Amino acid sequence: MAKEYKNFINGKYVSANSGRTYENRNPANQDDLIGIFPLSDQTDVSDAVEAAKRAYPIWRKVPVPMRGEILRRATEILIARKDELAKLMTREMRKILKETRGDVQEAIDTGLYASGEGRRFFSQTTPSELRNKMCFVVRQPMGVWGLITPWNFPMAIPSWKIFPALLCGNTVVIKPATYTPASTAEFVAVLTEAGVPEGVINVVFGSGNEVGEALLNHPDICGISFTGSSEIGRRIAEVCGKTLKRCSLELGGKNAQVVLADADLDLALEGVLWGAFGTTGQRCTATSRLILEEKIYDEFLEKLIAKANSLKIGDGLDESVEMGPLVSDGQRKTVHSYVEIGKKEGAKLVCGGEPLTQGNYAKGFFYKPTIFALVRPEMRIFQEEIFGPVLSVSKVKDFDEAIRMVNNSRYGLSSSVYTRDVNKAFRAVEEIEAGITYINAPTIGAECHLPFGGVKETGNGHREGGWTAYEIFSELKTVYFDYSGALQKAQIDTYQQ
Ligand code: NAP
Repeated sequence: MAKEYKNFINGKYVSANSGRTYENRNPANQDDLIGIFPLSDQTDVSDAVEAAKRAYPIWRKVPVPMRGEILRRATEILIARKDELAKLMTREMRKILKETRGDVQEAIDTGLYASGEGRRFFSQTTPSELRNKMCFVVRQPMGVWGLITPWNFPMAIPSWKIFPALLCGNTVVIKPATYTPASTAEFVAVLTEAGVPEGVINVVFGSGNEVGEALLNHPDICGISFTGSSEIGRRIAEVCGKTLKRCSLELGGKNAQVVLADADLDLALEGVLWGAFGTTGQRCTATSRLILEEKIYDEFLEKLIAKANSLKIGDGLDESVEMGPLVSDGQRKTVHSYVEIGKKEGAKLVCGGEPLTQGNYAKGFFYKPTIFALVRPEMRIFQEEIFGPVLSVSKVKDFDEAIRMVNNSRYGLSSSVYTRDVNKAFRAVEEIEAGITYINAPTIGAECHLPFGGVKETGNGHREGGWTAYEIFSELKTVYFDYSGALQKAQIDTYQQ
């Protein structure tokens, strides 16, 4: 019997007002029903925002270290339940177990950082230009935040938003992705068990069109934190622009790994396999372009094809499996349509290029690791985010052409360069247009205490992760404290002779 999940509003589990529900099924086996979830609408969002609004004045008064203490307790529960939560996540989206354990660990790390931040939460003081006057800045919460998350990191991404938003003293309403509601439901249950008071965190399940739009348009939401595609991000920026809500956007990527002729080629090979086919290529930081210096092009490509062909594909719950299925039939169709586009554009399909549908693969959305060679920058497969196990390989003459190639993209999230030449490595750091550059490591592998985000169409200038996440979810108040007992006029009295 599948578990029936409910919305979580004002500390209570409630059905959608309409009574409508939807089924969440395992993408490796459509016979496996994970849960039944509310299909909510605008009225449920209104109830959740109302609850969050009521809770806000109380929560913002809880001392920051005490908020941090509650978040620390939540991380302890996550640590105790790590394996069980990872298994549920694998069942829900089929990332392999090693990766779902990493997803839960990222939430743990983010929670520990947040609880430590509760004892820092620094702001600045600076001298006044006048006598007997003190100036300082305090960080303040903002109100009720709307959080909208994608399915590829069902616990890590909600944690990047929820932990800092709550630590800053905001209350939140979260709408998780339709494909991965269970992981977020469990995460919120953990926070509640740890002592997050009623109304401070609310969850409304349902579609982007209904629940997402209702959050965007709600007048009592002060800001939207969104991670997802650039297409939906644009829509969110548009609505938030009109209503002057703060909006932080973490969007798509088309990340490149460069391998120069002097690199440790075996290391670079391991890196690209992990970067391109980890999470079945469904990561915003996945390696989807490989740029090889011509001297090593043939040798490297040959080894890469052999390795990609030998990856073990299957059910993510099997510890020996290296790549699981795609999240949905729709995603598999999108991937396959890009393979057709690549062939028509004249790229050379050298590996994979078709779904796996027989035997053990019949009940899931499996696809072979796919590699295109001789890909040129004007091709759509070079430019567009595919979000699947498809790697485009291009050949360049030298380092300068490689950097031009990397930057020939409207996205700018992650990037990687393999080289033993320290001068080239530093030039890459300086010249690549991306929010993240790895040297001698793949395009994936962000650590939670460092800023995360991208340039160009990957975002709008905010950075999650580390201390920068706290800048998203708080306002600064500048305080001038005059203890002179006289009217002192800045700029005027300051320079009086
Ligand atoms: P998506 O289709 O943009 O959806 C993201 C979230 O937005 C989902 O919860 C979705 O709900 C919701 N949504 C859809 N339409 C909406 C609307 N009109 N108003 C408000 N919300 C709406 O992205 P996805 O397919 O879940 O995730 C893959 C994308 O996320 C890729 O482009 C990937 O690069 C990006 N991503 C970026 C980062 C980063 O940090 N830069 C990290 C991970 C993923 P439904 O689920 O109901 O559609």
